[in-house]
Amino acid sequence: MLKCAVLVVAAGKGHRFGTQMPKQYQTIAGKMVLRSSLATFCAHPSIQCVRAVINMDDKALYETAAEGLNVLPPVSGGKTRQESVLFGLESLKEENPDIVLIHDGARPFVDFSLINRVILKVKKNQGALPAVAVVDTIKKSVEKDGETLISHTVERENLWRVQTPQGFMFEEILEAHLGVKGQELTDDASLFEKEGKAVVIVKGEETNFKITTQEDLQRAIAMVEARKQEIRCGSGFDVHKFSEGAFVTLCGVEIPHNKGLEGHSDADVALHALTDALLGAVGAGDIGLHFPPSEPQWKGCDSSVFLKHAVGLVLGLGAEILNVDITMICERPKIGAYRLEMVEKLSEMLEISASRISIKATTTEQLGFTGRKEGIAAQASVSLRI
Ligand code: MG
Repeated sequence: MLKCAVLVVAAGKGHRFGTQMPKQYQTIAGKMVLRSSLATFCAHPSIQCVRAVINMDDKALYETAAEGLNVLPPVSGGKTRQESVLFGLESLKEENPDIVLIHDGARPFVDFSLINRVILKVKKNQGALPAVAVVDTIKKSVEKDGETLISHTVERENLWRVQTPQGFMFEEILEAHLGVKGQELTDDASLFEKEGKAVVIVKGEETNFKITTQEDLQRAIAMVEARKQEIRCGSGFDVHKFSEGAFVTLCGVEIPHNKGLEGHSDADVALHALTDALLGAVGAGDIGLHFPPSEPQWKGCDSSVFLKHAVGLVLGLGAEILNVDITMICERPKIGAYRLEMVEKLSEMLEISASRISIKATTTEQLGFTGRKEGIAAQASVSLRI
C-alpha cells in the first residue's frame, strides 16, 4: 500500500476576513474550522500522517484546534503560500510518503469520498485535484471613466473552480516546489501544469468550499446546524489462540489461567474487537491498518494503546460514544468474577459511564475451536452519535 501524507496549509493571517482571529481558527458549532479537516484526514483509512503548516504566532490557537488528534507536530509557514507549502513538504521528507495531499486549512468540509477520488488518481507524472464546473456566465471587465464596464464574455465551457486537497507523488511535487522557490502561487497543481505534467480533475463538492469571508462563515454555520445528528453502529470480531502462559489479558484485566494468549501485542482479544468496532463505525479501516503487526514497535504492546487511538479518532470527528457491548466466547477462563473490573477499565478508556458498557461471556457448548479450548473469540458492537 502506498503511504499517504497530508499537508494542511493554515499559516495565513486572513486579511480578507476582517477580524483579528484568522479564519482557520474561527469556530463552527463549537469546533474550529481547522480541526474539522485535520480530524477527517486523521480518521481516513488510507492516510498515514497529517501535518499542519501554521503561523507560530497562532501556536496556542493551533494547540486547541488539534487537541487530542493524532497529528505530527506543526511546522512554521513562510512569507508566501508557496514557501509555506515548501517548508511543509521538506518537513515531511523524514516520513518518506509516496503520495502527499495538500489541503487548505480553511476548507473544513472535505469528506472521505472526495479524498478517495483524489488518491485514486494520483500516480507518477500525474496529479489530481477536485473541481466543480463553472455554471455562472463569466465576464471580463475593464475600468473606464471611474466605472467598471464589461469588456467581453468568457467562454464558460471547460472552466472549473478548483478545490483542495490536491494530490501528487511526494517526490515530484517537492522537486517542483524547490524549482520555483519564492514565487507566488495560488495552488500547487499550477507547478505540474508548468512542467507539462498531467493534472486530472475529479468531482469536487459544493460543500467543500473555502471559508474566506464572514459570509462564508455564516454559510458554514448554517450548514452544520442543518445537518441532523446521526447514529452510527460498528462491529468488531477477533480471535487469539492459547499458548504457554499463566494469565490472559481481557479488557485490560489480567486473569490467571493455565495458558496465555498468543499474539503480536498483549493479545487482548476483547479490546481488539472493540477497537475494530469503533473504527468501523466511522469507516476508518481496522486495527491492522492503524497498527500493522509487521511493525516491531507494537510487539507486546498494551492494547489500551490501540483502543485509545480509536477513541481519540472518533471523538476528533465530533462523535459521542453511546454504548458498547462486548461478548467473549470461551470455555475457560471464567470471566464473571472480573466483569466489574473490566467495566471500570473500559469506562476510563472510553470516557463514558459504566452504565453504557456491557460485558458478556458465553461458551460454544464445547463445539468448535473455543469449545476445544484452543483459543478465545470476542465480538463487540458500538453505537455513536455523530
Ligand atoms: Mg487481535
